[in-house]
Amino acid sequence: MRAPPKKPNSTRPLLLQNIGQLLTLRSTSGNSGPRRAGDLKQLGIIEDGAILCVGGKIVSVGDTREALRDSWIKKNRSQIVEIDCGGRVVLPGFVDSHTHPAFVSPRLVDFEERTAGATYEEIAEAGGGIRSSVEGVRASNKAQLAGKVLVALQEMMAHGTTTVEAKSGYGLSLDSELKSLEAIQLAAAQWPGTVVPTLLGAHVVPTDFKNQPQKYVDLICEQMIPQASKRKLARFVDVFCDRGAFSEQDTLKIFAAARKNGLAVRAHISQLARTPLAKLLAMNPVSLDHLDHVDETDVSQLAQSSTVATLVPGANYFLGLKHFPPARNLIDAGVAVALATDFNPGSSPIASMPFVLSLASTQMGMSPAEAISAATINAACALQIQEKKGSIEPGKDADIAIYKVRDYREISYWAASNRCELVLAGGMAVTSRQDESRR
Ligand SMILES: [Zn+2]
Repeated sequence: MRAPPKKPNSTRPLLLQNIGQLLTLRSTSGNSGPRRAGDLKQLGIIEDGAILCVGGKIVSVGDTREALRDSWIKKNRSQIVEIDCGGRVVLPGFVDSHTHPAFVSPRLVDFEERTAGATYEEIAEAGGGIRSSVEGVRASNKAQLAGKVLVALQEMMAHGTTTVEAKSGYGLSLDSELKSLEAIQLAAAQWPGTVVPTLLGAHVVPTDFKNQPQKYVDLICEQMIPQASKRKLARFVDVFCDRGAFSEQDTLKIFAAARKNGLAVRAHISQLARTPLAKLLAMNPVSLDHLDHVDETDVSQLAQSSTVATLVPGANYFLGLKHFPPARNLIDAGVAVALATDFNPGSSPIASMPFVLSLASTQMGMSPAEAISAATINAACALQIQEKKGSIEPGKDADIAIYKVRDYREISYWAASNRCELVLAGGMAVTSRQDESRR
């Protein structure tokens, strides 16, 4: 593959050609919303494809022969930066719509205790879990925390991710939650991809509010949310609504405060125990995530809603669980399913979307094509950015990943191996395996 210049000027047009399989993810039905049921398998593949990008946007998509005959391209060829993809597979950069990168240290004690049989909840009750990441975040300054976030973002991009939703949630005080969001903002400014920030002050009740959990909910509603909104530090408010975290009633209260302050809502739900979805769905969450313990009523209510169901099988894998979210039931019932890493220090230190795709196929019965749609266009819908991200179509951002494979199914087949060769974000070549080998 002919490498592009190290830093092509994004104002220069960029032509990717000789693409073996170009996965456009374009809509076949004119539907701009999430893909459901059979549509999830439609990848809009063009063989021997080409993409023209100008000013960081995708301008045209077609086959290479047509592109090379195009009069505008012929006339401007000397100005165009060309990438010969050598028959490789090209797809939209992955959208990782659920991550927790604002932490300081890995949780190695929890990891080791689980090998001796302790469960996630037992570890949390004994003082491990989410609460054990709080001290490090509270003690670090914004720049230190931003450095940690940036390393995570770079790792994600090396596997083909160009958009990341990043949550706070290990500060659990007004100052430390806002500091976490500022650190995410600072890291985002140094990273060529796109970051969508989320306030997760409602991750767990911190130890200092152990005996007055409602006061902590009030702090979230009356201070964290208004300040995060006023300072434009978050696009979403998230709640961990589950056994041992926040109740359905707390979640509805926090959702109402978020909506009052102009922020959209999402929740972690039914990971450890079932919470009925009806009341939460009435608040129009953009996404409900995990969903390990949904029942048939929940599934049919989700199918009738516009809410995306974001599945994070990396957490089940890393916690050593035998049970995975019921992806097949959800998809077959018509629920809009997305996939994400849930990158976090306790239950999913996984930055690789291709590995999550592999888990989706091996553990949840999703076909490789369904998994790709769930991790691109549907994940973009889970962040309300589908007008710009998640497919390779004219007018969208030139966020593109090139994999050193001949067939798209290899992306999830080569489990735990990184075949991502080059990533473009906003039309700029931002990471490549050649760069990695020089480091
Ligand atoms: Zn999570």
